[in-house]
Amino acid sequence: MESIERPLAPPNPDAAPYWDGLREGRLMLQSCVSCGTVRHYPRPLCAECHSFEVEWLPSCCMGRVHSWTVIHHAFHPAFEDELPYCLVTVDLAEGVRVNVPLRDAGPHELGIGHRVHIVFERESAALTLPACVLVLRNEDPVV
Ligand SMILES: [Zn+2]
Repeated sequence: MESIERPLAPPNPDAAPYWDGLREGRLMLQSCVSCGTVRHYPRPLCAECHSFEVEWLPSCCMGRVHSWTVIHHAFHPAFEDELPYCLVTVDLAEGVRVNVPLRDAGPHELGIGHRVHIVFERESAALTLPACVLVLRNEDPVV
């Protein structure tokens, strides 16, 4: 059976450093040169001061669970093999949120505020996507 390719985001110069960073194993975030506000998803304009001046900073890739949902219906046929999967909204240490799938754990192991780490999954030579893993599982001893 032929596999169905995932839909790709159309090329966008404002987001190119984000996608390039993922391929290099880094989660790149935009930071406004004018006011310092960090933003994600990539976009050309700062929502705080309306500056177009931007620099890119690598995230430390650490965050906490803000919320999550379990996906039971694929929005595209290419994702049907992964169902069901858990999509986590992560509050990154830099103050922005990302939505990423959870790996190596189930939703029953999640809790609001649990620490997660961003990991990178190479889909192809052109595409790497972020995901997250729990840093401290409920059964791990607290040290
Ligand atoms: Zn700004």
